[in-house]
This record gives sequence, structure tokens and C-alpha cells, in this order.
Amino acid sequence: MTELAIIGSQDVALSEWLTDTTEVDIAISDRTVRATTGKLNGCNLVVLPRNGTNKPMPPHLIDYRANIEAIIETGATRVLTTSMVGTLKPIEYPNGSMCVLDQFIDFTKDRQFSLFSGETFGFADMTDPFCKDLRQGILRAAQRAEVKITPNGCYIGVPGPRFETAAEVRMYAALGGDVIGHTTVTDCVMAREAGLCFATVAGVITVGAGLSDHRMSAPLWHGFRRGHAARFRDIVGELTLEISKGTGVVTPCTCATSTPIERQDTAMKERAKATASTH
Ligand SMILES: [Zn+2]
Repeated sequence: MTELAIIGSQDVALSEWLTDTTEVDIAISDRTVRATTGKLNGCNLVVLPRNGTNKPMPPHLIDYRANIEAIIETGATRVLTTSMVGTLKPIEYPNGSMCVLDQFIDFTKDRQFSLFSGETFGFADMTDPFCKDLRQGILRAAQRAEVKITPNGCYIGVPGPRFETAAEVRMYAALGGDVIGHTTVTDCVMAREAGLCFATVAGVITVGAGLSDHRMSAPLWHGFRRGHAARFRDIVGELTLEISKGTGVVTPCTCATSTPIERQDTAMKERAKATASTH
């Protein structure tokens, strides 16, 4: 039984840290998804590179739906992801810092946006898009691992791959955003629609346009990425200890029932088919 799924950004080669690893091709509806299964501290994990290949890929071309469908197939109910982000508030969320996201605002477009593409669908409750229990587990794990981490953060999801203008950064910060990135909203929405517990550890690697006199420095950027990946590994180590001991959950969450599933009726199916054929 897989107890924890991890969708990692390119720097988080977590599969190298596991024991008893196996490369697997998980069969989903129309293809397979490559992943690594293994153990860490007695906990069974499955690790998926977010873009499927671990090679650079623009965020709008990632097959987000395939990743979540593959995780569903493994039986895992918890999904933990990493996200490398820019800060919109350099004082509260300085470059090089980490946070556990608790909210998002979605500005993504022209990409996969929902898990539902077939006969069933649901209206996901997004009041708390990130699992409260998993977030608390991450914070406990970070404390034990002596990793400094901010306990909340509002993530602005944008399409990318381009960065923002200075005016956009001012607007996103004024709207309540703390950090900004390309992939987490889509991961989160689909996990939520699947009834999975989902949480993200975000690592700040850049400062939003217009908020700093310094231009982006590649060595600094890569250094932050490596640092975040190492700290993420420490957090996952402590989290898996808690999961394997079964000591983590204090109050069961409601993620599994947050998206009551409905089934399209025949008339709706015909309309959807007709709409699809005209595009
Ligand atoms: Zn949950």
C-alpha cells in the first residue's frame, strides 16, 4: 500500500534517497506514467517527476492529469509536492526561505485545469485547498528536522513560462498573494477533485520583478534550489517516520469527501459531444 506520493520539481531527485526502489510504469486510461516506488523510514512512497521526464519542460505543457491519475492507481491518499516560487513580499517571504502554502489565487489559462474529462465530474470545495492535516504534519516534521519554514502562504498561480511585469507583481501582492509560481494550482485542483490530501512546500528562489535592485543571479538561483531540495528531503524524512508510526493525524481531514462526484446525464453528454465536434 502506497502511503505517500511525491510530485517533485526537477531538483528533488527524491527517488535517490529511497531504499528498495523500483522503476514502474503506472497504467492509466490511455498510456503509462513512469514513477519510482520505494521505502523511506518504513513508509511506502511513490515519486513522480512533475514533468514526467525530469528534463526541463514549460509549465503549460506538463501532463498534470496523468500524474494525478497515476497516483490514484497506486492507492496513495496523500500527495506532497515541492514548488520553486518567486516572492511578492520580500520582507515576510525573503529569497531563500520556505513556506507551507495554505491558499491560492488562480490566474492560469490555456492548460489542463480539471481532472474531469470523462462522464463523471464534481464541484470541488476549495475553501481550504491544501489539506490541513498534511500541512500540520509538514510543520511538525520541519520542526523536528530544525528546518525554518513559514506556516502559511498564499500562492498566485500564473501561466508562465515568462516572468511577471513589475506592474503585475504589484497587483498580485495587492490582491493578497505572498508567492508566485506556475504549477501548484493545477496540481492542487486535480488532487482536490480526486479527493486526495494535498500539500505543497514552497521554496523562494527569486524576487518579484521591480521589488529588488538586483537582477536574477543564476548561481544564487541554483544555490537556493539545491538548498530547498535538501531541506525538503529532511522534512520528508521526519514526515515518513510519523506516517509509519501512525502517530500523525490528530483530527481526520475532510479531503476525501470534498468533491462529491456526479455523473453526466445523457443529454449533457450529447451536448458535450456536439460542442467538442464544433471545435
Ligand atoms: Zn486531507
